[in-house]
Amino acid sequence: MISALDLFKIGIGPSSSHTVGPMKAALRFLEALAAGKRLGDVRRVLVELYGSLALTGRGHGSDTAVLLGLAGQRPETVDPDAVAPLLLRIRADGRLALGGVRDVAFDEGRDLCFNMGEVLPVHSNGMRFHAFDGDGRELAVHDYYSIGGGFIVTGEESGEEGPTVSVPFPFANAADLVALAQAHGLSIAELVRANEEAMHGPGAVDEHLRRVIATMRACIDRGCRTDGELPGPFKVRRRAPSLRRKLENGRGSNAVAPHEAFDWVSLFAIAVNEENAAGGKVVTAPTNGAAGIVPAVMEYHRRFYGEEDEATAFTFLLTAAAVGILAKMNASISGAEVGCQGEVGVAASMAAAGLAAVLGGTPAQVENAAEIALEHHLGMTCDPVGGLVQIPCIERNAMGAVKAISAASLALKGDGHHYVSLDCAIRTMRETGRDMQTKYKETSLGGLAVNVVEC
Ligand code: SF4
Repeated sequence: MISALDLFKIGIGPSSSHTVGPMKAALRFLEALAAGKRLGDVRRVLVELYGSLALTGRGHGSDTAVLLGLAGQRPETVDPDAVAPLLLRIRADGRLALGGVRDVAFDEGRDLCFNMGEVLPVHSNGMRFHAFDGDGRELAVHDYYSIGGGFIVTGEESGEEGPTVSVPFPFANAADLVALAQAHGLSIAELVRANEEAMHGPGAVDEHLRRVIATMRACIDRGCRTDGELPGPFKVRRRAPSLRRKLENGRGSNAVAPHEAFDWVSLFAIAVNEENAAGGKVVTAPTNGAAGIVPAVMEYHRRFYGEEDEATAFTFLLTAAAVGILAKMNASISGAEVGCQGEVGVAASMAAAGLAAVLGGTPAQVENAAEIALEHHLGMTCDPVGGLVQIPCIERNAMGAVKAISAASLALKGDGHHYVSLDCAIRTMRETGRDMQTKYKETSLGGLAVNVVEC
């Protein structure tokens, strides 16, 4: 089983596959060198990025991420405010402390290569790390693949099932999940919790979820209050603070539009994704690019239903996690593999399930909510303009969050019976992603990425 705790990872923006993944790969490379007792012999490292990482890596901060990982910084603990000074120092000195301890020369133009048009065999997001001694002899070479959501595998691991962990309620698809919940009289969140506690222990589950909730709320808060421009050539102005001011000024006015709740939901999602685009701290839900939807819908529920208690937030997240796990197990959550349907589509599906659950939905209604939200994102391509996780990504999260609420509401008005199952929607996403042209899969070679004129 994939763990909910692995699905909700705390890291920095702008991309889970292109930022968090490469950072973790660099850390794994250092661990491999240390395990082989080779770290002390290293005088030079060379990192090569392939496929989608080569094409959109600069816009997605892959270069920054590799440097940070090589310097021993971890996605979950790095201080976003410390990143710029650290990079400045590495680039100015032309030196890097591997793992924070082993000082080597590092010429970024020579030692970090974007191999455009080349792909490694296993996945579009491939990375090759080399280490050399003082005579230029290669000490080690390791390939890693960033398979979406901040998950990293080696070539050998990509074909493996992963370590077998015994859980009380294993499920392979949504039909199993709902049947198990119904047979045992459990909610989906209770079932997922039992599995997670078997994997990590009860204390660890609550502790991780608390950190996730705190990070999500802090991200909304920071995003709502931080003005200015996002990094990159487009000088995209951050919208969340002015949107917040407009909404707060309109409070209590008779002229408030009936749909204003949706403006708040959009605000929460935009705030998170602007923070993500600026390299701030976010939670993969299931990815960075789609990180705004789950927190936005959770925040909507908290503010508009007045639900402040921790147990409700736990239920939301554990239910949402079940859907993310199913999508990852049976299709993909990587824009480079299946397009944006696997990121924003899956995030909307997760949020719809979470909302349906905290509003009292049965397991069948929760599955229905997840299915409706995913079905109506099927076919969505990934076409980030300029390779940045800004346009269309930020606004797309707002739309995904609104769709998630509508999906949950529709499902709760039914009895759980419906024609298209969540399993069918996930299978369709996988097949559509397989048939989708590469230019629509996080390469910035098609779609909006080529039709929006750079100026
Ligand atoms: S378009 Fe969607 S999948 Fe692509 S980078 Fe943006 S959010 Fe991620």
